[in-house]
Amino acid sequence: MMINLISDTVTKPTPEMLQAMMAAEVGDDVFGEDPTVRALEEKAAAMFSKQAAVFCPSGTMTNQIAIKVHTRPLDEVICEEGSHVYQYEVGGYAFHSGAGINLIKGQYGKITAEQVAAAVKPLHDWLPESRLVVLENTCNKGGGSYYTVAEMAPIRDLCRERGLALHLDGARIFNALVETGDAPQQVGGLFDSISVCLSKGLGAPVGSLLLGDAEFVRQARRVRKAMGGGMRQAGFLAAAGIYALDHHVERLRDDHRRAKALGAALEVLPMVENIRPIDTNILIFDVKTPHTAASFLSMLADKGIKGSAFGPHTVRLVTHLDFTEAMLTKALEVISALR
Ligand SMILES: *Cc1c(COP(=O)(O)O)cnc(C)c1O
Repeated sequence: MMINLISDTVTKPTPEMLQAMMAAEVGDDVFGEDPTVRALEEKAAAMFSKQAAVFCPSGTMTNQIAIKVHTRPLDEVICEEGSHVYQYEVGGYAFHSGAGINLIKGQYGKITAEQVAAAVKPLHDWLPESRLVVLENTCNKGGGSYYTVAEMAPIRDLCRERGLALHLDGARIFNALVETGDAPQQVGGLFDSISVCLSKGLGAPVGSLLLGDAEFVRQARRVRKAMGGGMRQAGFLAAAGIYALDHHVERLRDDHRRAKALGAALEVLPMVENIRPIDTNILIFDVKTPHTAASFLSMLADKGIKGSAFGPHTVRLVTHLDFTEAMLTKALEVISALR
């Protein structure tokens, strides 16, 4: 039994999802003629009470389009230092948008309205203009920590006061929502734009959505095309997304429960320390010298479990749709036997 905990992006479509994909009615989406893509976009927009949505190949593209539409060259994006938009999108904010970045050090990836207020730059000819704030929920590098709607609302208020746009990198927003009990419509009310990944915990093979008001999404469609992200019979992929939204949201709780169970087994290992709070499906912890992330991961790999190094002594494991109860039992046995 191979157990892959490298990321929640490793899932493959379930037989039922494949069935839905094969049954999809499709057309050329560049001409707006794919009914399944349109159905997915309308469904997602309605869920979050936004006017419109656009289906894209990746979450990197949805974030980069959002930055492009919200900013002009010489503007600045404010975000947490571990943010995906800063760490893992190849510096695309500079490449696509000519924007600078203003980093805030948060707590497990979360920032506050006070911190954002302190980061906003005054208007001077010699300074970049603060234009956009990006929040990430859940926070990937923060170990899957989440914001509640109540925690995000003061940042919304501040952005309104200071004339800043607010974008949500909601690659894992549903992992947050099943924990907080907040409704997607409440989240929609806080943000000018929202990016949602279908290919993480929701288990679709490909695809992300970018949501906003009608004019924002009209602009976003043009930028998507300019980035080469206009797709033709994408309804086959959109069908997987619709299936995922209908069937794979509530079960995210199982991933969170399994992550906590792995955490409890790791906690009693003498070689493990500093397990970050396990709020959702991501586990981040350190291993003590003489162990290293590499040596720890190779011990796990010998027993058929894959994880990833997040630093010289830091390991990340991520639970997901294809990490079953039987795999959990096996993983707990393996971890408990580590010496
Ligand atoms: C995975 C992820 C994305 C998007 O990644 P893609 O691989 O480009 O789909 C964006 N933000 C966060 C926080 C992520 O974890």
